Amino acid sequence: MSQLSSRRRILKQGLMGAALAASSSFNPLAIAKPGRRKIGVALVGLGYYSRDLLAPALQLTQYCELRGLVTGSPEKVPQWQQEYGIADRNIYSYETMHQVADNPDIDVLYIVVPTGLHEKYALIAANAGKHVWCEKPMAMTEKECLSIIGACNKNGVQLAVGYRMQHEPNTRTVMSYASSQPYGKLKNIIAKAGYAGGAPNPDNWRLSRKLGGGALYDMGVYPINAARYTAGSEPVAVTARLEVERKNVFKEVDESAYLTLEFPGGVIAECATSVGQNMNMLRANCTKGWYELEPMQAYSGVKGRTSSGVLLDKTVANQQARQMDDDALAIFHKSPVLVPGEEGLADIRIIEAAHRSNASGKRVAL
Ligand code: NAD
Repeated sequence: MSQLSSRRRILKQGLMGAALAASSSFNPLAIAKPGRRKIGVALVGLGYYSRDLLAPALQLTQYCELRGLVTGSPEKVPQWQQEYGIADRNIYSYETMHQVADNPDIDVLYIVVPTGLHEKYALIAANAGKHVWCEKPMAMTEKECLSIIGACNKNGVQLAVGYRMQHEPNTRTVMSYASSQPYGKLKNIIAKAGYAGGAPNPDNWRLSRKLGGGALYDMGVYPINAARYTAGSEPVAVTARLEVERKNVFKEVDESAYLTLEFPGGVIAECATSVGQNMNMLRANCTKGWYELEPMQAYSGVKGRTSSGVLLDKTVANQQARQMDDDALAIFHKSPVLVPGEEGLADIRIIEAAHRSNASGKRVAL
């Protein structure tokens, strides 16, 4: 059996179990009617995350179908078509992408290009009248985020940011504690996400300031977003320090970043992120106990515990499949998405303030 057909078989076998597991947490009333058309998704950008995570996850979804591709690398297309059975009429380049407006097969354009290009392609997608799913971080600046939100609103299409953690069940439990406060009032938060990455090729976009490289954009949104959903409120100030250890590699962007976020009521969040060091935890200390997730962000195996011995150990068959099914149901039911553009915008506002704080050495009020 060829590698390809064996992969298809594995995906097919996984499909039923995963679909059942994924559906078990859905509101049964929200399940699409049998035979109803699935949401046609086109991936914009066929790099690592599309190839290794999103395309396989799409095979595990209940409500989505990988139907189209937008790529600047035509040599990649035959392999993708063979593996996923994508029709010729659904293949676009970045230059022809706007023509998707006339293609009823495609409902969603999922933007999975370098962060510095999210706004450009999200606008083309929205103006073509297609729903927009946009990878994290949403864009480079508050202005770009607002422009994406505005274009989606103007065209009456949905916008969902690819914050997969907010679809993950143990993370959702922690999010719910912000209002239920089972361990009393929140005192402080520690949130860290980073990995000990090798040195990327010098021409890799993750080293480019303009394209959204650096730890703070790439990984920083995880602790920042976590601090915000754990606090259940927006910070009022940020103090940040950006660092580079390997100066011969990271010439224009940060390798690690450390942020202190001040929330209303005196709650402090200490956040750290890095593309040079491993770190992966979230802890909330409260007046009557604590709770934590470790790892707090991973493609699988997110788990945690609380001071009263509660284990946060729910499982999800595939995080990205859950995320895309949740977002597909929001399209079917014309209901709000779980992670709207405003969530991405709030984090980018903090990242921009963190850059200002690092440059001035001062606390920046938000
Ligand atoms: P990648 O470098 O592997 O892929 C990027 C793709 O964009 C490539 O196919 C590349 O050809 C294309 N591209 C188009 N124009 C380009 C240009 N001018 N310069 C460079 N590449 C260009 O990156 P990736 O890891 O797939 O990341 C893509 C997006 O997905 C980023 O926004 C990243 O933050 C996000 N991402 C999210 C997660 C997650 O867990 N949610 C994980 C990884 C990446």
